[in-house]
Amino acid sequence: MNLQSLVRKNIWNLKAYSSARSEFKGEASVFLDANENPLSDKYNRYPDPLQWKLKEKVAQLKGVNPENLFFGNGSDEPIDLVIRIFCEPRLDNIVAIDPTYGMYQVCADINDVEYRQVLLNEDYTLNAQRILEKVDSHTKLIFLCSPNNPTGNLLDKAEIEKIIKNFAGIVVLDEAYIDFAPNATFINELFQYPNLVILQTFSKAWGLAAIRLGMAFASVDIINLFNKVKYPYNLNQLVQEFVLGELNKIGQKEVWVKEILDGRQYLETELSKLACVQKIYPSDSNFLLVKFNDANTLYSELVKRGVIVRNRNKVTLCEGCIRITVGTKNENKELINNIYEILL
Ligand SMILES: *Cc1c(COP(=O)(O)O)cnc(C)c1O
Repeated sequence: MNLQSLVRKNIWNLKAYSSARSEFKGEASVFLDANENPLSDKYNRYPDPLQWKLKEKVAQLKGVNPENLFFGNGSDEPIDLVIRIFCEPRLDNIVAIDPTYGMYQVCADINDVEYRQVLLNEDYTLNAQRILEKVDSHTKLIFLCSPNNPTGNLLDKAEIEKIIKNFAGIVVLDEAYIDFAPNATFINELFQYPNLVILQTFSKAWGLAAIRLGMAFASVDIINLFNKVKYPYNLNQLVQEFVLGELNKIGQKEVWVKEILDGRQYLETELSKLACVQKIYPSDSNFLLVKFNDANTLYSELVKRGVIVRNRNKVTLCEGCIRITVGTKNENKELINNIYEILL
């Protein structure tokens, strides 16, 4: 893969902003280089722009090198950056599966980059051939999401590989829900595929949606491009310190994942008893996509009762569907009880 031929010229030639914190690294006793306030002693210094301390810990956890890791303000940041790095507005295009996570298209639209959608099969499986047929010489990125949102299923590994191997551009594989299906990750194959960017997040299984921390894993060359384009101090000191502490709770995360998977099983069992349920799609994530007889009415009746689910009735291939996040035991029970009350 010739990375330079894929990257926008202005980005390839970009001279990144050199912050005070990146010009001098190391120990010193007097810091008069960054116009900070020396009189305060807490959070008065700019944070590490590349978050090395946190990267070393997370990289170890994931079995990669810290240099293969990028941190963003949620996954939304690397989604936007990858488009800005590779796609020339009004000239290049992106190919993505449909239905999938809405942010890819929003970011493409914001950047004025054509967004080409390729339908999944009726059962939400991936057809690599159809994706590759949509590609032309201006296709820079293919977005895949596995487990996919809002369908919940893992995409077939061999089909994903077919796309990575046969596409001359960059494949972005969003693994936001991979903690619920950990054996399916492509992280161990990262080094085989120089054109692969994997996205993960602390927002789902880790239970840290509020702090906004997303990750991208890729070759050092691609990570260096991310670092060049990002805001110099995109992750604040509070988040960097806080997550270092949270990483010790990996055992807790695994307990949570197990409890959520049990909750998903409970919901599947209970929902399958209901006549108003037409189909429960198989899920590899922490939510279920369920087809109901009358999704719109059920949705608004649930809202009236203070139970909020996600109405996906208008989404491609999801007619009649509601997306239900697995909650606590009580929340799951409350949802089922409320559906019995509404009974459509
Ligand atoms: C929730 C989700 C994310 C996570 O986004 P953050 O910005 O990291 O919170 C990413 N991709 C998909 C498909 C998601 O559903």
